[in-house]
Amino acid sequence: MANPFDNAMKQLDQAAEIIGDNDRLEELRKPNKILQAEIEIDMDDGTKKKFPAYRVQYNNNCGPYKGGIRFHPKVDLDEVKALSFWMTIKTAVVEIPMGGGKGGIEVDPKQLSQTELEKLSRGFVKEFYKDLGPDKDVPAPDVNTNSQIMDWMVDEYGKLTGKPQPAMITGKSIEAGGSLGRATATADGGFFILKEIVKELGVLPEDLTVVVQGYGNAGANMVDLMYNAGFKVIGVSDSKNAVIDPTKQGFDTNIIKAIKQNHGSLDVCIGNETDKCQIVHDAMPPHKILEADADILVLAALENQITEENVKEIKARFIIELANGPITPEADQLLNDRGMLIIPDVLANAGGVTVSYFEWKQNMENQKWTEQEVKEKLKPIILDAYNNTRDVARKHNISLRTAAFVSAIKKVCLTGE
Ligand code: NAD
Repeated sequence: MANPFDNAMKQLDQAAEIIGDNDRLEELRKPNKILQAEIEIDMDDGTKKKFPAYRVQYNNNCGPYKGGIRFHPKVDLDEVKALSFWMTIKTAVVEIPMGGGKGGIEVDPKQLSQTELEKLSRGFVKEFYKDLGPDKDVPAPDVNTNSQIMDWMVDEYGKLTGKPQPAMITGKSIEAGGSLGRATATADGGFFILKEIVKELGVLPEDLTVVVQGYGNAGANMVDLMYNAGFKVIGVSDSKNAVIDPTKQGFDTNIIKAIKQNHGSLDVCIGNETDKCQIVHDAMPPHKILEADADILVLAALENQITEENVKEIKARFIIELANGPITPEADQLLNDRGMLIIPDVLANAGGVTVSYFEWKQNMENQKWTEQEVKEKLKPIILDAYNNTRDVARKHNISLRTAAFVSAIKKVCLTGE
């Protein structure tokens, strides 16, 4: 498996070819600080268990470190470093006054009880709280973490520091100081860009088929937005299964949502109409969804999904990366050579961190914005970032990814002249 941090540095190299290497750009080749710990918790059966945990504080030139915490059995330091680097680029792409950080615990949270999960979440804060805080480092949810986990963490931080400080973490429940609109923000941002591109291409959503890899926070909300706007969603997948409609008529995605809610996984065929859909079991890695013959492929799962091995099988006309780092640099190059339009992660999923920043700001200023206000403030930020990136791409005849890196690195607060 390609090392995500090596991939991230190759992306930086491509931007350096345009900008020219210099000392300040060199700064971006390593994180400011790496925090590591083994969190030990008492399991329900009376045994003790240790879980490796990481927080990487990559760069805070533009503001406090900002980035999610991932709970996953494959979390390791290189992955967290890569994700924290991408956060640094992303916050600069959307020009919010935040830096880049990321955290993770090597754990399969599905194997833990709620009590164990709570102990582990609080344990993360106990280990690292001295380096966290509203003006230092502000975590958020990522894969397999959610508002409940953020609520436990903010509560633990309040206990350890002696006063409640909601702005130390984002993605909290509304009751604990979360922002309206945060849950859908990542998909909202990607969708604003998609609508703009569809307009530029002069096509109608009804004429476009879509498949979505990953049916969690980012993927499921994107499915809803696309379905409601008239796109034909013909395939979705999660870590266990892919469900594909070979007739290309498109699913009623409300049924998919119900299946996921009732069964926890996409393991049941829609209405059991086997002529209308086929269930692909053991789709790990889920090649079937990636290879589907659809106009748009939304990647909303994990890193390294499209590689040199499977890139030839990709049939989509364009790709939206809601996930971080889902395409290796080698596969990216091959796709670019084919003229594929790819909306890169640092742009496509930046709605999440933007609304996280809104949440932090509301907490710091003791405000509460309506959901409409949040969306109204998000849209111009995302569209400005997209327009700016597209203009840089056209000017230098480079991909949107390299253009996003180039424009981020030129931001004055990051490394700009
Ligand atoms: P999540 O835990 O809510 O969902 C992840 C989904 O991916 C689940 O449906 C899971 O079953 C599926 N999945 C995992 N491995 C898979 C595989 N091999 N094939 C197909 N599906 C697979 O996580 P999320 O928050 O939706 O995050 C997904 C991606 O989006 C991550 O890369 C994350 O870093 C990125 N992202 C999320 C946010 C956010 O606000 N949630 C913001 C920016 C970026």
